[in-house]
Amino acid sequence: MNICPSCHMGRLQRRIMVYLQWYDNSLLITNRMPAVVCDVCGERIYDSDAVESLQQLLWAYPPSTGRSISSSNT
Ligand SMILES: [Zn+2]
Repeated sequence: MNICPSCHMGRLQRRIMVYLQWYDNSLLITNRMPAVVCDVCGERIYDSDAVESLQQLLWAYPPSTGRSISSSNT
């Protein structure tokens, strides 16, 4: 069982959480993201593999926002 890195007292319980992320001007909501949550302080740590695969999906299939990904202002 993992000890919480934030409070060093609680234990991290596996949970399925909602994950929110801003991408450009869009708020992306992933309903079922595996995570661990501290039972004392409530610290949330999302599963790094799941976050990474989400990032890869985002880069491969960016949501259409009507804006360019490039932030060049010239
Ligand atoms: Zn904690």
